[in-house]
Amino acid sequence: MKNSLILIISALWGSFALAQTVAEQMPQVAVTAQSAAAHPFFRSEGGLKWSALTASQALADAREAVRLTRERVQAIYSIAPEDATFDNTFLAVEEATDELQCVMMLMMHLSYVADSAENRAAMEEISALMSDCTAEIFSNEQLWHLMQCAATPEKTAGLSPAKQRAVKQLMQIFVDNGANLSAEKKALKNELEKEMMMLSLAYDKNIQDFTQNWELLITDVAELDGVPDNVLLMLQNAAKEAGLEGYLITLRDETAPMVMAFCSVEQTRKKCWEGVYGYGVGTQYDNAPVIAALMEKRQAFAELLGFKNYADYEARTRMVQHGDEALAFVDSLIAKLKPAYDEELRGIMKSYCDALGKNCAHLTPWDELQALGIYNGHKNAASMVGLSAYFKSTDVLNGLFSVYSNLLGVSFKQLPAVCLKPGETCPEDKVEVWHPDVKCVAMYDTATGTQLGVFYLDLYRRADKRAGAWCAQIRQANPGPNGEIVEPHVAALMANFDPKVKGMPNLFSHEDVIVLFHEFGHLMHHLLSHTELKGHGAMGVAWDFNEFPSTLSENWAWSPEVLATFARHYKTRKPCPQSVLERLAESRSVLQAHIYMETLRRAKLDLEIHIYYKDKFKGRSLDAVSAELAADCQLPYASMPYSPLRNLPHCFAGGYAAGVYSYLWSEVLAADAYTRFAEEGMLNPAIGKQYRETILEKGDSLPADELYRMFMGRNPDEDAFLKVHKLNR
Ligand SMILES: [Zn+2]
Repeated sequence: MKNSLILIISALWGSFALAQTVAEQMPQVAVTAQSAAAHPFFRSEGGLKWSALTASQALADAREAVRLTRERVQAIYSIAPEDATFDNTFLAVEEATDELQCVMMLMMHLSYVADSAENRAAMEEISALMSDCTAEIFSNEQLWHLMQCAATPEKTAGLSPAKQRAVKQLMQIFVDNGANLSAEKKALKNELEKEMMMLSLAYDKNIQDFTQNWELLITDVAELDGVPDNVLLMLQNAAKEAGLEGYLITLRDETAPMVMAFCSVEQTRKKCWEGVYGYGVGTQYDNAPVIAALMEKRQAFAELLGFKNYADYEARTRMVQHGDEALAFVDSLIAKLKPAYDEELRGIMKSYCDALGKNCAHLTPWDELQALGIYNGHKNAASMVGLSAYFKSTDVLNGLFSVYSNLLGVSFKQLPAVCLKPGETCPEDKVEVWHPDVKCVAMYDTATGTQLGVFYLDLYRRADKRAGAWCAQIRQANPGPNGEIVEPHVAALMANFDPKVKGMPNLFSHEDVIVLFHEFGHLMHHLLSHTELKGHGAMGVAWDFNEFPSTLSENWAWSPEVLATFARHYKTRKPCPQSVLERLAESRSVLQAHIYMETLRRAKLDLEIHIYYKDKFKGRSLDAVSAELAADCQLPYASMPYSPLRNLPHCFAGGYAAGVYSYLWSEVLAADAYTRFAEEGMLNPAIGKQYRETILEKGDSLPADELYRMFMGRNPDEDAFLKVHKLNR
């Protein structure tokens, strides 16, 4: 997933870049080698000195970066309008914020991998500094005037296509940030932005508070009939920790869905469901009023900037150009998926009725997980238990590296690493890491030997690490004077796999393997970016294109041909039987229609509310409207479920407003592109080379649909998604 804050930076500044030649041509304040050493968060020669990257240092460096930015921006608008060029305006602004971006990206990474009160406080302060500083730049009329002077056809005619694209993108970004508005409207826009931010925070806080506060204490174990012993034990421990007797179900872990999946007592399932899916309805944490207030502000904001609705505002930098286009895509996919979904639904209902020995036309919402579990269990009769024995961590990582080496023409070398305390000196033959578990790997172009990137692998769960898996871009390399590679990109692959069990090697589940391949897809996109302008790196690609390389990469983790290259029993070293790998590949389609339809339902509601808030939602029950609009894409419930919009922080507190569809959009692109590999060879280096050159290296230097056509020779085929996932009927 994209991180919203990184995206803000990237969206603001990612569209234009610093080329080093510019340094001599424009007025600027130089950063001396001495100041770079005094500011370890800034760009410097050699590897990152993690032991020097403390919260207090981040704040000091951020303040210095803001000072440098202000000084440089001032120097830019001392240029006479007739002398304004691409280099001394557009590129110069990028140059002006380079250190600020470096501090922000590093500190954000640190706050994710080592959560602490100091890191959080530093992050908040740096975000505020960054936001004030960017607001100043956007409202700077002298700068805007200079940019307009540098963007005239005469001035841009001789520029390279990448620079011409950067001019268009940056002008649009300034317009979208209110550059053309009157002073009064600018003030209104700033006010609306603040209000939207406060409402987003309130939305997120409601979810966090409800999650923390909801509890269900069960004292009679009979009410938990059917729940497996290990889950009962977890519930008992939770009660003990809270100083209570009995079994405590909370939303702070995964026990509530497990109770719903296994408990035979309907009342218990119902109470859990109200916790997990009620999202605070009937309590002070209900988000329905927050959504209503936020939608009013978003609509007003979009109209102020000249858009019909907020979905159109968000679509301006995406592959889809309008909210309606995204909604049409979602509706079309729902219709195409419906036959497979209905067929799967009949199977779900039949297995549920058979298991319970009764006839039921409808489920209740709290039956859903049980019904899905029974169906899944039936379909997965060929049990995959024991598969982990074939996924020893070192085998999987070597396999992953080998797949990508062959496919993309790159090679990997693990670097000896050390984790230091502040003040300790790093031995010359080692690189620093932020935790002893972290590995550091250098990536080279096999043909030329050029170092393209460095990445860290931080794979195992820790108490102070943010949950989930993601790929963090830590430092984006500056291209050389002629766009050549002069320094490596730096990124990290982050996950939360189970830590090592004593006396056993680290083993991955198949799900872990999929996660690794997914994040590695993002990683390759970042590290292989090779663009004339820094801002055209992978981080700046259209929102709905971002998940394409990662989703595509998951296919290698399902392919029996690929898995056979590294799946070996950790003890016997025998390869995993082909029949097991084939059964695994077949199991991919189990519940796929249900899972995709669930995402489509959320995507549809997200778009409907951001396009038609006033017409369809305003003044009506959120649950009733949601149920009505999503009637075609949910299980047949005996009673109406609550609207999932209450708990969709991506849309209302993250960067995915009117953007949930992008998950499906990427799935379609990935499934379609996968057909080339499936037909011409999963490990075919010729296709890999084309993929590297037309998609990965290009970053955002061309529109995403053009890149896609360069690779596939045509537009995406929606039906490939149904075929690849065996959902065509
Ligand atoms: Zn992803």
